[in-house]
Amino acid sequence: MRYCKGCGFPIPYGKFLAWTQNGTIMGRDSAHTRLVYLEVDELRSLFDGVSRWVNFSIDPIIARAEKEVGKRFIQTLLPGFIAKMPRGKMARPEFGIRATSKFIFNYMAGLGMGRAEMVEYVSGSHARVMLINPHSVPLIAGDGTGVFEFMERIGVEVGWERIKAEEYMVTIRKISDQPPVEERLTLAEAQYIPGGVELDKCAKCGVPREVTSNIYLDLEKGVLRHSKTGMRFVALPVQSFQAVLRELEAEFGSELPALMEGLEQKYMRETSSVRYSIGRDRDMLEIISDFPWMGIGNPVGAWQKDRTVQFVVDNPFHAGIVAGKVTGVYEAWTGSIVKTSWAEDSPGRLRVTLELMT
Ligand SMILES: [Zn+2]
Repeated sequence: MRYCKGCGFPIPYGKFLAWTQNGTIMGRDSAHTRLVYLEVDELRSLFDGVSRWVNFSIDPIIARAEKEVGKRFIQTLLPGFIAKMPRGKMARPEFGIRATSKFIFNYMAGLGMGRAEMVEYVSGSHARVMLINPHSVPLIAGDGTGVFEFMERIGVEVGWERIKAEEYMVTIRKISDQPPVEERLTLAEAQYIPGGVELDKCAKCGVPREVTSNIYLDLEKGVLRHSKTGMRFVALPVQSFQAVLRELEAEFGSELPALMEGLEQKYMRETSSVRYSIGRDRDMLEIISDFPWMGIGNPVGAWQKDRTVQFVVDNPFHAGIVAGKVTGVYEAWTGSIVKTSWAEDSPGRLRVTLELMT
């Protein structure tokens, strides 16, 4: 791995990711995958919160939802000769899989998803992958299932077991000759509201200083950490996040979005250090000024009138979750509890309204 002489970050980082002026991080892959930095504990608190609510593990649902996304996300990363390779029983894709798995696993490590290693791959039968420090086992298992299905054209199931702390063995196994119905998720290219975000970027590789000064990347472990707080981060494809939330809503009904927004709000209220880093005399908008480099969205306005506070964020990676995040950060900043609601004034423009209660 080569590192940038300007900022010390791995060179592929700036090559694969672009920080835009509209508060988004876009992959330079053919599908223009949007990415967002989330805390690993934040992601887990959302998933665990839903599991507690329904009183069983939602991991299989997460893996199922991720399968189609992972398939497409990884397809776009595969070198052309693999993507065009004949697939199915006669094709014996072991060679291609082994050749490309290292490439894919390195990419995932750079995004903070941990380390993975192909332990076994038997075409037409099964595969075993060892995960070390995974950000989310069901998400990676879902990715793997998608790739195996795509290459082999058979029906598969996935399971995993914990080997020791932070080590898991994922097994993907054939269950039928029936190739899966390939869902044609023709996603319309997302439209974003133009913005004027100016990030101070490394002149050599283009990665913003906010990223290189706030995040420490341990490529060996596949772990990203905040250099001041030590919190672990992951750069997650936004489509993964949205697909999982869509699936959970389909499964558990209309109460789900409010539940997850509440979980996000609580997580931020309890973990954000904003109270110590940004004084109460400062501009309110500053409390969410880290949104653009994290790819969360573009904060464009904040104001207070009487007992009502409003925030406007363009291009949120997920409207409801970003509304929960804004609310929780505000509560952490002020040390108060507020009543919250949100609306999309126009496509891609989120307005969060907080009613102060005291
Ligand atoms: Zn650099």
